[in-house]
Amino acid sequence: PSNAIQPLRLLLIGCPGSGKGTQSSRLEKNFGVSHLSSGDLLRRNITDQTPLGQQARQYVADGKLVPDNLLISLIDTELLQVGNPNWLLDGFPRTIKQAQALDNSLNKIMQPLNLVINLQVPEDVILQRIMDRWIHIPSGRVYNLSYNPPLVAGLDDITGEPLSKRPDDTPEVFKVRLEQHHAMASPLLDHYRNVVVNVRGNTSDEIYPQIESEIVNKLGVLPGNLPEAL
Ligand code: ATP
Ligand code: MG
Repeated sequence: PSNAIQPLRLLLIGCPGSGKGTQSSRLEKNFGVSHLSSGDLLRRNITDQTPLGQQARQYVADGKLVPDNLLISLIDTELLQVGNPNWLLDGFPRTIKQAQALDNSLNKIMQPLNLVINLQVPEDVILQRIMDRWIHIPSGRVYNLSYNPPLVAGLDDITGEPLSKRPDDTPEVFKVRLEQHHAMASPLLDHYRNVVVNVRGNTSDEIYPQIESEIVNKLGVLPGNLPEAL
């Protein structure tokens, strides 16, 4: 039917440490979206020393953007394989060139992004979060020693495997990542101006309910009530 609700095709934009990973886990759990994180995919490729990982490693270590062509083919492949019409992109696209490539692929299958969520978190709270952050590389699960610690210190809750510090979570590299973000954010938000919503707060708990109501209001999808493939 023409009034059928659309599958969720979401993009999260926000500065490093703004909680994209945390919000993504909640959306994955509550709306059944598949979470595609360019940063998580790159880190897995780097850990596994794949050819892509070897090409990307130094850029990621320095907080610089990995070349567009590598990211574009990585995400194209992931989207082809995802097997779920409801998905959420985190960290991609980050440049206009990446956005145009993504739009082209999605327009071909008539499934454009339908909501872009811009996370706005004050910068003074972010650096401390990054310093307290530990991750489980294989899954991308994020922990924070202050407000979301693992059940057992140093270990992932689900697998019991060891947690890591991201090598780019240092004050020096963080500064570079923040500058990168500011340079790319306004052109990207402008590119998606027709589908973008702003949500803002100091904590992920303050922000998450705002995201949920945007999805309900703009797309008519309720948590736990997923649209099937078209
Ligand atoms: P956070 O995970 O805290 O939100 P972030 O947005 O800086 O921070 P990721 O998205 O995990 O971190 O990305 C980590 C690094 O991976 C980036 O600094 C960059 O080197 C590389 N990267 C990730 N996505 C892209 C992209 N779309 N284009 C180019 N480089 C990317
Ligand atoms: Mg992230």
